[in-house]
Amino acid sequence: MNRTPETPLEQRFQALGLNILFTVTLSYIAMILLSTMMEQPQHFPLDLFTLKYGMLVVSVGAAFAGLIAPRRLKWIVGIMGVLAGALLVVTIRSGEASVANPAVIHIWAVQFIMLMYAVFGTRIGAAVTVFLLVMPPLAMWGVAGVDAALRQTWVVTSVAVCAVAMIAHHYTAFLLRSMTLYAEDHAKLRAARQDGVTDVYGRAAIEEELERAMTHAAKDNTPVSIVVVDIDHFKGVNDRHGHATGDDVLRAVAKRLRRNVGGMGGMVGRWGGEEFLVLLPGIAKPDALVLAERLRHEIAGAPLAGLNVTASFGVASYRGKGDTTDELFGRADMAMYEAKRSGRNAVR
Ligand code: GH3
Ligand code: MG
Ligand code: MG
Repeated sequence: MNRTPETPLEQRFQALGLNILFTVTLSYIAMILLSTMMEQPQHFPLDLFTLKYGMLVVSVGAAFAGLIAPRRLKWIVGIMGVLAGALLVVTIRSGEASVANPAVIHIWAVQFIMLMYAVFGTRIGAAVTVFLLVMPPLAMWGVAGVDAALRQTWVVTSVAVCAVAMIAHHYTAFLLRSMTLYAEDHAKLRAARQDGVTDVYGRAAIEEELERAMTHAAKDNTPVSIVVVDIDHFKGVNDRHGHATGDDVLRAVAKRLRRNVGGMGGMVGRWGGEEFLVLLPGIAKPDALVLAERLRHEIAGAPLAGLNVTASFGVASYRGKGDTTDELFGRADMAMYEAKRSGRNAVR
């Protein structure tokens, strides 16, 4: 159910399937409430366990099938719609539509809204179809053995159920729209926070995360460490192998960094150029130094994008209230330059 639908048509069917499920569930609840408020039929809801009720279950099953195999949905609901329509008219005309239990007719009405909606894809189509097929026979010709008062109850309750179904539909459509918008916003926000080349956090995003981590640390009195990572002689990579290979190296370094800190809640951001910032919330200096050493080893240990690449690392940790992000970063940067001065491929 969580797989991503491939085509817009599939997406539409999937949304439709969800919509039908919500609509029928809410409508059914409304129907139960309304039926209970009406004069209570004697064997309610036992009488509902009939062939007609089975049809409702089958329809919900069809909606589920739509969720799992959206392509087959139209066939299933199409056949169900024709069957249900024929049976509905026959049932009403023959007058067996539950003189004792008006609730059955409302099940039919709800079921029909659902099926017509699935077939025609519009609420108007569904509502009009229900009214054209259900109301005239009831209002004009009546049904054998049904008196005017009961007929009136049927009509009023059917209208109410249809109205509730429409509201339910609007509500679910609204939910679906909101969910879609949220997903889109989320994707956009993510894209804005991401560095386009390396797919790790961009500069602004990692700075924001650093601010947040320090605020947390100040409040909870927990450690935070950062590691500034600068690739060694990166200009040479560009000069010898071209800018595109340089980008590949950046991507590979970013990936390796992320793979090694992601598990412990660490975050990687591209600070600029060939410089990365690793943010380690909850990690104190000794552990951060060990981790940085592991990162150094990970990068130098195996070729990246086919090249032997090394990097220099500077570690610094939050010193408590009064310490600022600028000062913290400054200390890490200074440590990184010490690593460079010591001959590169080192941690300080
Ligand atoms: P070292 O840090 O070891 O002192 O040497 P370096 O050559 O890495 O130092 P420097 O910071 O002077 O060079 C960074 C180079 O990174 C300059 C620029 O050509 C390259 N660079 C910056 N951003 C990108 C990028 O997005 N893609 C590629 N391919 N290269 C970049
Ligand atoms: Mg640099
Ligand atoms: Mg460099």
